[in-house]
Amino acid sequence: MNLVWFRNDLRSSDHQGLAEACDNAQRRSGKVVGLYCFDPRHFDRDRYGFRRTEKYRAQFLLETLEDLQRQLAVINVPLLVYHDHPEVVIPDLVSSLAISDIYLQREWTRDERLVQNAVMSAEGMAQVKLHESDDQFLLHPDDLPFTPQELPRVFTAFRNACEQQWSVRAPVPRPTPMHAENWALATSPDFSMSLPSLEQLGLESFTADPRSAFPFNGGGAAAQRRIQHYFWETENLTRYKQTRDGLLGIDYSSKLSPWLANGSMSPRQVYWQIQEFERDVKANEDTYWLVFELLWRDFFKYVSLKHGDQIFRLGGILEKDYEWQRDPRELELWINGETEYDFVNANMREIAATGWMSNRGRQNVASYFARERQQDWRIGAAYFESLLLDYDVHSNYGNWMYNSGVGNDPRDRRFDIERQANLYDADKRYRQLWL
Ligand SMILES: Cc1cc2nc3c(=O)[nH]c(=O)nc-3n(C[C@H](O)[C@H](O)[C@H](O)COP(=O)(O)OP(=O)(O)OC[C@H]3O[C@@H](n4cnc5c(N)ncnc54)[C@H](O)[C@@H]3O)c2cc1C
Repeated sequence: MNLVWFRNDLRSSDHQGLAEACDNAQRRSGKVVGLYCFDPRHFDRDRYGFRRTEKYRAQFLLETLEDLQRQLAVINVPLLVYHDHPEVVIPDLVSSLAISDIYLQREWTRDERLVQNAVMSAEGMAQVKLHESDDQFLLHPDDLPFTPQELPRVFTAFRNACEQQWSVRAPVPRPTPMHAENWALATSPDFSMSLPSLEQLGLESFTADPRSAFPFNGGGAAAQRRIQHYFWETENLTRYKQTRDGLLGIDYSSKLSPWLANGSMSPRQVYWQIQEFERDVKANEDTYWLVFELLWRDFFKYVSLKHGDQIFRLGGILEKDYEWQRDPRELELWINGETEYDFVNANMREIAATGWMSNRGRQNVASYFARERQQDWRIGAAYFESLLLDYDVHSNYGNWMYNSGVGNDPRDRRFDIERQANLYDADKRYRQLWL
């Protein structure tokens, strides 16, 4: 029996591990089962007192898993769901289902590594074969013009090198359906397929704020509807570079990040749809710019691959020694949106009420917290980790380091927040919405 252990790869197409698991099982008359664990540690409080996953992302995740179960049902692959630690669940399944092979997307950050090591060192796991794949990137590590260890420090050098030797793999097709017998586990009372509720995860239910700039559901179907709207129906993609610094409404940017973060859509799937759009409708600087931003996403993944746990250290990858403070009052004012800047306050109220904040907003509130108030940037990053719908460890810690002067920015950057507010919210409509 093959097990596909889903984590941040919650889709059935363009999924190397799932495709290989099904293919190998079909050739050997074997079976395939999927697994997702709601790891209780992901909902605990972190060392600053924030819940590691707040209700907005948890709700989005539940919707994503419902959608994934539907996708997998089409190919007769049951998705087992447990609210427990993987190192408890997986060895049990290995023994009760005689699992020989586990397929999963590679993760290398600290917590993911610890959990995976705990799973693989549990009793009865020695004979199980692990198959890891790298579907989270736009540019596969084997197709880069350098090894991840040779990654340039500055994004522009990374971008220039990649653009000269450009190769994006075609998405892996969704597997052909397994034999109907493969579905049998789904009907067995011995195995759990039911999703927990928000309350069971220790979170409160909520009504979405009608002002949200991200009023969308989780799951691949919703991601595809978003592309349909943003690319094909409105052709907003042809204006992307001009509008991407916006703050208000659903259409100033693609809003694809939450689906990309949990893998309900892959960057390759987005890329190949941009290519189709460019061929059939229009290609301009704006359409290319969405690819450019996907490269930033890759860049931060490669930064964390190269630098490992250093992305979580106060000095960042530059090992800079600034004077950092940890003032609980400063933190409270920032979180509650009660600082001296109404622009910072509006953005902080938006994230607290919805789990969303624009890129322009994120840069400003991070710069305020880390550079202007000189607060330990990792506390700000942890707050974002708790609340963001699109939390992704690499992009979050990479961008926080960058904006705090300890990351990949060659300039010592600090935002002039009044100026930013006047530039991007001249008529104050954004601030009026949230304050
Ligand atoms: C302090 C800070 C923290 C951040 N934390 C996260 C995070 O946890 N998860 C996350 O996905 N993004 C993070 N970002 C990056 C960026 O703000 C979001 O990706 C973007 O706002 C998402 O909106 P969008 O999908 O409409 O982006 P678009 O502008 O439409 O861009 C398309 C895609 O490109 C990628 N992208 C765009 N900008 C960046 C960037 N600066 N870094 C990495 N990828 C980028 C995203 O996948 C995005 O979905 C952070 C930025 C800052 C300044």
